[in-house]
Amino acid sequence: MRGRIAAACAAAGRSAEDVALLAVTKSRPASDVAILVDLGLREFGENRPQEAAAKAAELAQLRPDIDVRWHLVGRLQRNKVRSVVPWAARVESVDSARLVDALDAAVARARQRAERHHPLPVLLQLSLDGDPSRGGIPLANASALAALVAAAEGLVLRGVMAVAPLGADPNQAFALLAREAARIRAEHPGARVLSAGMTADLEAAIHNGSTCVRVGAALLGERPITSP
Ligand SMILES: *Cc1c(COP(=O)(O)O)cnc(C)c1O
Repeated sequence: MRGRIAAACAAAGRSAEDVALLAVTKSRPASDVAILVDLGLREFGENRPQEAAAKAAELAQLRPDIDVRWHLVGRLQRNKVRSVVPWAARVESVDSARLVDALDAAVARARQRAERHHPLPVLLQLSLDGDPSRGGIPLANASALAALVAAAEGLVLRGVMAVAPLGADPNQAFALLAREAARIRAEHPGARVLSAGMTADLEAAIHNGSTCVRVGAALLGERPITSP
């Protein structure tokens, strides 16, 4: 996988060090994560808060001496934010003002209880085709949401994330994303992360400036189709 990323970076004239690899381990057991840890990976992505919290605890038993970072890459409901704040190193799927408020309040509460000591880094999930069913905020509303995150005491705006729309040309989709990311970065210089690219389209994402690819299938094989 590092070879594929390195090749894509070389083709794009970029340094392989500029693209982080986030292993998406949703619906995989903690023992699979332990194998990836042994291969040197330290950043993992999950899309279900409950599954992730249990897996993080299990991995801490399997590999007690190793610090890993868990990212939430899936849709987050407001009533689940409290369960995410203690373990998440970053939430990549922030896509509404209501969610920003709920996360900010949950961080404040967790800090009072000493369950968390630092603000929570987040990415805005942008919807490249405006279809709300797959998550993400429409591009026209992204600036206002970025400003809201920047003003939230418990949150830190680190950048943007997107999934290429189904059936779209990923190159076009990620070119649009790159322009939006640059626009938000101009307003918020700390928002440097561009999380884009999965197993099927990471070359197109790296070509368009992705700084973090989220890879599941290419690392661990296809997920069983019967999984939830
Ligand atoms: C599952 C998932 C991925 C990884 O997809 P693969 O095709 O398995 O590489 C990346 N990002 C998000 C948001 C996901 O839900």
